[in-house]
Amino acid sequence: MRFCVAGAGLSGAVIARTLAQCGHDVIVVDERSHVGGNCHTERDPETGVMVHRYGPHIFHTADERVWQYVQRFGTFRPYTNRVKAVAGGRVHVLPVNLLTINQFFGKTMDPGEARAFVAAKADRSIVEPRSFEEQALKMVGSELYQAFFRGYTRKQWGIDPTELPASILKRLPLRFDYDDNYFNHPYQGIPEDGYTSVIQNILNVDGIEVRNNCSFEFLSETFDHVFYTGPIDRYFGFRIGRLAYRTLDFERIVADGDFQGTAVMNYCDEDVPYTRITEHKYFAPWEKDNFSKTVCFREYSRSAGENDIPYYPVRLVNDRILLDNYISMARKEKNVSFLGRLGTYRYLDMDVTIKEALHASDVIERAFQSSSFSLPVFFVDPN
Ligand SMILES: Cc1cc2nc3c(=O)[nH]c(=O)nc-3n(C[C@H](O)[C@H](O)[C@H](O)COP(=O)(O)OP(=O)(O)OC[C@H]3O[C@@H](n4cnc5c(N)ncnc54)[C@H](O)[C@@H]3O)c2cc1C
Repeated sequence: MRFCVAGAGLSGAVIARTLAQCGHDVIVVDERSHVGGNCHTERDPETGVMVHRYGPHIFHTADERVWQYVQRFGTFRPYTNRVKAVAGGRVHVLPVNLLTINQFFGKTMDPGEARAFVAAKADRSIVEPRSFEEQALKMVGSELYQAFFRGYTRKQWGIDPTELPASILKRLPLRFDYDDNYFNHPYQGIPEDGYTSVIQNILNVDGIEVRNNCSFEFLSETFDHVFYTGPIDRYFGFRIGRLAYRTLDFERIVADGDFQGTAVMNYCDEDVPYTRITEHKYFAPWEKDNFSKTVCFREYSRSAGENDIPYYPVRLVNDRILLDNYISMARKEKNVSFLGRLGTYRYLDMDVTIKEALHASDVIERAFQSSSFSLPVFFVDPN
């Protein structure tokens, strides 16, 4: 059989490999000049540093199958994500932990004292929080909320926290120990040769033809089935409207030596227009001392326009209604499956992306073994 995979990101690559290994012909198209999707990494020509072109990516997972899968396609070097943040003109450590709390309030509290101290700060007048802001005030009180959550959220989402649902902040976003590892997962790392090399290796199997600079919409060939990892609204020509996304603008900074001394520095205050600065040689500590120059990116978040790269799905009430309508349209299509972060309009970390693509692969393999080949429009519920 002959298949098309639209999109050469992680989702598309995993699916394409499965199809090819089952003995079928696969055309992978991507409108970009490279494979890797938003995980794409490349050597910066001026400094030699490996840069994550669409924003920094740290691989982390608790899923044994996913971890074993990626190991086959690249060497993952240990990397622990430790984030710093500027708030109120001072540098703090994130996620907010015992060091942050003690430094912020000028105290030397132990975990129990800090817990009681923060509990006393919490706004107990809020019983049923109706917004992100009320939920945060109820959990951490005004000072920590104003310093670390309010401005950053407004810049990242372009929405006032009073208008965001309380459900976004489910758990207390504080730690009462000195653990400043951003992720809780047991496996965490960054591939030595970058993510694009990993994805090239996934795609490097007989039966796969990769076509870059090629939009799915311009293909005139026919296929037995299409796996579409592009934006679901785009597949339908935005017929009933556009799903809202946030996009990012990156302002490049090149400097001699070091710029900020760490990989990620968040800027929480609203009067600073960017959300963070990332210094990319720090994402490769095993080689960072090889470079005399450094390259960083200031990251600005804004609402995505028609010609912008869609980064983060907004998913507020109106988007969910529109998404439901696109899902209904998709379910009427024949011989196409939608997957990945754009195909299902969800924020997915890389490990979840791979997990879902491996699940889809299991379904595909079973379909090949059955007497009538049939695949679902969605392998997971996009809602
Ligand atoms: C700023 C940022 C930082 C992130 N950091 C992390 C992190 O630290 N750790 C982590 O685990 N995850 C991170 N992620 C998530 C990660 O980027 C995703 O999990 C991953 O990219 C999803 O892969 P995908 O294949 O579904 O989508 P994508 O990577 O977006 O790939 C889709 C591909 O399809 C192509 N395409 C779309 N439409 C068409 C079309 N019509 N025709 C042809 N080609 C088309 C696109 O060009 C793209 O290459 C981050 C995401 C963002 C936005």
